[in-house]
Amino acid sequence: TFVLEARSLSHAYGRTAVLHGVSLGVAPGEVVAVAGPSGSGKSTLLHLLGGLDTPTGGEILWGASRVDRLDVEARAGLRASRVGLVFQHHYLLPDLSVLDNVALPALVLGRDARERATELLVRVGLAAKADLLPNALSGGERQRAALARAMLARPAALLADEPTGSLDRVNAENVADMLLDLARTEGAAVLLVTHDERLASKADRTLHLLDGRLVTSGM
Ligand code: ADP
Ligand code: ADP
Repeated sequence: TFVLEARSLSHAYGRTAVLHGVSLGVAPGEVVAVAGPSGSGKSTLLHLLGGLDTPTGGEILWGASRVDRLDVEARAGLRASRVGLVFQHHYLLPDLSVLDNVALPALVLGRDARERATELLVRVGLAAKADLLPNALSGGERQRAALARAMLARPAALLADEPTGSLDRVNAENVADMLLDLARTEGAAVLLVTHDERLASKADRTLHLLDGRLVTSGM
């Protein structure tokens, strides 16, 4: 069974259809990359799988839960405990320190995780910046803080849009290793959109999206 699954997923913005019958599944411990030209629907697919948007057709499942049938609040609650997101805009809260931003999911989950947040900041190389505000970080540093936050709750699934996009080579490799580790050692299902060939080559499978359709089977 899959941790993340799309069944005949379709989506349109107004009258413009951008996804057509996409079916895919990501198993526990698996890393799947999504490739495709700009405008092919990669971000839309990631948003739908992350429950940030409601598809115009088809089904989304996190394990056995039909995400597309849940209301926004129920989805957010389920996401907090199961799904980590690392997207282009990092949504770090400007008035909280880097450490508090990373520990934030623990507030939702109701456990104290500042210790794990500190460990994760060490792993992404931001230990020295834990007490700064996000606006004191570079784009690449914010991206790494967002990854640490996404990993805090040990999510069953992690969705990442260009997670190494604004990183130098050393940090990009470190982030790639963390994503692989999350799958290999914690059994998470990892789905990522990337143009980074070094990262894509480490994935178990790459799915190709063209004009909103998968060119290869998603299963
Ligand atoms: P990719 O991530 O592969 O570049 P996107 O999912 O961002 O593709 O976009 C797929 C198509 O949907 C594009 O034609 C884009 O212009 C369109 N699109 C994306 N977001 C919106 C939106 N919020 N409103 C209208 N059209 C959108
Ligand atoms: P774009 O494709 O335009 O870059 P984003 O990926 O930044 O869009 O996200 C689009 C919407 O998804 C945002 O308006 C935001 O509400 C929501 N969103 C994205 N990532 C998160 C997140 N980590 N937490 C909460 N909401 C998010």
